[in-house]
Amino acid sequence: MKRIFLIIAIFLCNQIQINAQMQDVGIAKYAVLEVLGDNTPLREKGCEKSNRVTHVFKDAVLFADKQTDDYFRVELNENNYAWINKKFVEVQAIIPEKRFDNIEKISFKSEKKFYKTKIETPSQSAFLIKEEGNNLDFTLFDNRYDPIETSLEKNDKFLIPEKITNELNIKYNNKKPLFGYDVEKYEKGYIYTIKKAPKVSCKRPLKDMIVVVDPGHGGSEKGVVAFGIEEKKVNLDISKKLRKELRKKGATVYMTRKKDINVPLYDRPKFAKEKNADILLSIHQNSLENRAEITYKYGVGTYYYHPQSKDLAQKIQENLIVATNFRDDKVNHRSFVLTRPTNQISVLVECGYLIRKEEADKLVDKKFQKNIAKAITKGCEEYLIKNFTN
Ligand SMILES: [Zn+2]
Repeated sequence: MKRIFLIIAIFLCNQIQINAQMQDVGIAKYAVLEVLGDNTPLREKGCEKSNRVTHVFKDAVLFADKQTDDYFRVELNENNYAWINKKFVEVQAIIPEKRFDNIEKISFKSEKKFYKTKIETPSQSAFLIKEEGNNLDFTLFDNRYDPIETSLEKNDKFLIPEKITNELNIKYNNKKPLFGYDVEKYEKGYIYTIKKAPKVSCKRPLKDMIVVVDPGHGGSEKGVVAFGIEEKKVNLDISKKLRKELRKKGATVYMTRKKDINVPLYDRPKFAKEKNADILLSIHQNSLENRAEITYKYGVGTYYYHPQSKDLAQKIQENLIVATNFRDDKVNHRSFVLTRPTNQISVLVECGYLIRKEEADKLVDKKFQKNIAKAITKGCEEYLIKNFTN
């Protein structure tokens, strides 16, 4: 018992000391933070509902210059700040100046479907990827970059700085729209992957495309239940029909579940990544927390998060409005586990509101479900033709 008190006392003393040091005014000081888990979000503001700026991996080292009760403010560079919840980090030290790692090597590979850039660094830090139209802007912070020592193979799509900097910035300029990207860690640093724009034929745009269909919920997770109808079943029924339509058009289709079983939420995007998906379609039926709103909020809606996925969402939505004749519940920008992945184009469809009798009656109808599947398939084809044919 005594020992526990002692540990708590030491911990509290350390915390008080750290707090006191960080509050010093006039002297630049940083708390060195070590991140405790993978995919930890950095946010725009120090609160849970604030937008995510980026994610960091386990063991990443960050430098905090300010704090609130629950959050540290991390300095990415002089112009960029982000906030991390204190529960995700451990304070390692207080230091007067930021320290920078040296990037040891950068290598570049052009594969059949991907561009892969390997960045060797001695330790993990924060990185940021920004979509700018067809272009991507990748920055790895707190890493000294020396263009002579770490020369990247020449490729006119990739621009890197010509002078020594305290961060690595790679600009990727593309003529066609983006079609997926990702940053992973490996034992020596990072692998930054960009999917090449596909070559699409007008006649069979979905040929050779890999599509992962995700029927929402399943097993003990029923989703919305209304009028004796369970959302998980409608999702699965529509998804199976969607699989059939997509296959007819030449796509390779995988489903995150084929039966009425539980699939953990975060396993679904992981599955899509393992399958090297080009498109991820998550199928749901909508509900409202405040069901009184149903008098003015109803119909069919499509959701995306990253700009690269917006155009597919748009095309699917246009086709679904025609096929269902439902009210237009719009293309919506929303942060969901199934809209956030960047590896592929990721879209979530809410086919209708199951809590509205008029829509529920149609959503369980087999022919209606088939029309939904056809509309989503047509949306995918139109998106591919618009963006990726010559
Ligand atoms: Zn749902």
